Parts: sequence; C-alpha cells; structure tokens
Amino acid sequence: MIRFEHVSKRYDGGQDALTDLSFELPEGDFAFLTGHSGAGKSTLLKLVMLMERPTRGQVIVNHQNLTQMRSGQIPYLRRHIGVVFQNHQLLFDRTVYDNVALPLIISGFQPRDVGRRVRAALDKVGLLDKEKKNPIALSGGEQQRVGIARAVVNKPPLLLADEPTGNLDPELSEEIMGLFQQFNDVGVTVLIASHDIALITRLQRRVFGLAKGRLVHDGVLRRQAHMA
Ligand code: ADP
Ligand code: ADP
Repeated sequence: MIRFEHVSKRYDGGQDALTDLSFELPEGDFAFLTGHSGAGKSTLLKLVMLMERPTRGQVIVNHQNLTQMRSGQIPYLRRHIGVVFQNHQLLFDRTVYDNVALPLIISGFQPRDVGRRVRAALDKVGLLDKEKKNPIALSGGEQQRVGIARAVVNKPPLLLADEPTGNLDPELSEEIMGLFQQFNDVGVTVLIASHDIALITRLQRRVFGLAKGRLVHDGVLRRQAHMA
C-alpha cells in the first residue's frame, strides 16, 4: 500500500527531514510511526499525501508512483486517503453532520448518498446522536471521533493519523486507537504517527521508529523496550 525506496527529503533552507528511507507497509497492515519531535514523522505522512515531494527516491502509494504524479491527479489520490489530525481541524461554524459530509460534497456525491454515508460513518464512531450539534459543544474525545468519521466517510483504503491522541488522556487515547483497529479489521490500511510509547507498546503492532530522519527500528516493540 505504501512503499518508500531510498527516500530523502531536504526542505528549502537545507534542513534534512528524511535520509535514505526505505520501508514497505503492505495493504491491510496497521503500523505506528514513532520518534522524537523533529524525527521526520509529519514529513513522511506529507510525502504519502503529496503535500510535499521527495528530494530523492520513490514513493509508491496504492500502486501509484507519486514521483511521476502530476498536480492535477493529486485530488484523486487524496480521495483514497483518510487523514486524522491531532487538532481535529473541524469547522466550528457548522454541525457535526456538515463537517463529516464535507469530503463527500467535495467529491460530488448525490445528497441521498451523502446522508447515508455520513450516518454510517457517525454510527461507526458512536456519534449518531450528535449529528445536529456544533462540534464546539463536544468533548475533546468526541471531537476527535468526528475527525475520524470525516476521514473515513469516503471509505478510503488508507488511513493516516498524525498524533491523533496528542491532546487526550490515556483512557480516551485507548478508545481512539480501538476505533482505528476497527477500521483495520475491515481491511483499511492504517499508519499512525505517535510519540506515546506507552500506548504503542501496549498495542503490540508493527512500529517504524525514526530518529533524525532515518529508520532506526522496524517491528513490534517489546514491552518496556526503549526507542533509540
Ligand atoms: P516530526 O513530525 O517527527 O516532529 P517533522 O517531519 O515535522 O518531524 O520535521 C522533521 C525536520 O524537518 C525537522 O528538523 C523540522 O524542523 C524540519 N521541517 C519540517 N517541516 C519543514 C518545513 N516546511 N521547512 C523546513 N524545515 C522543515
Ligand atoms: P455503501 O454506500 O457502499 O453501501 P455504507 O456506508 O452503507 O456503504 O457501508 C457499507 C459497509 O462498508 C458497512 O458495513 C461498513 O462497515 C463498511 N465501511 C464503511 N466505511 C468503511 C471504511 N472506511 N473502510 C472499510 N469499510 C467501511
């Protein structure tokens, strides 16, 4: 689903964010991406979404080589990728329903299909009863679940998350991870950037460890193990 071949990313200004990075995340997998602040996690996710382009190497997503992709094809790529952010990026001038509907409206779905899909997505995150509320009236955990519903409403085969539990307490963080696992159980490939080592270690999933833009770990973290 995602393959990096000798990928390096140097930002304008000379900052090396990723150096000679190679890894593969097969379809249907669930993995974490971890490392200290500045290790390159966000940059890696941005390369997958084509929000940035690599300086060297190849990025292949969903059988497409992004290096060769023209700008005009980017919206099509993004339609197949759901993204969850730490700060939800919800719009507070409209309802929960309208927030979740937005990606479908942008994709040109018929109103009839929008309603059905939005309710299916809200149902999956347990928020069907909140559709008419303004997200500002919801708790942090609920807001994050709205963000997840919005990310999956298009039924993307790939779900990316950047510190999705960054602002949540441990109990809510577990709950949010449980939701990602549910989507993975129905076949969605999941990649989550997180520096919450305690949480990641408990879940016993594949972990890519980054340090200063290099891959320093690939595999399940043993309990109480420490990252380099
Ligand atoms: P992480 O998500 O692990 O905190 P990032 O991918 O955000 O790491 O950052 C990796 C490195 O790239 C850092 O040194 C950061 O300062 C640098 N960086 C990130 N974005 C930019 C940018 N737009 N321009 C210049 N340097 C950047
Ligand atoms: P459709 O419009 O294809 O009939 P629905 O929204 O009614 O889709 O959901 C059909 C099924 O697809 C549901 O049982 C649901 O579990 C599954 N589904 C919904 N969203 C996703 C997703 N993001 N990834 C995988 N399966 C999903």
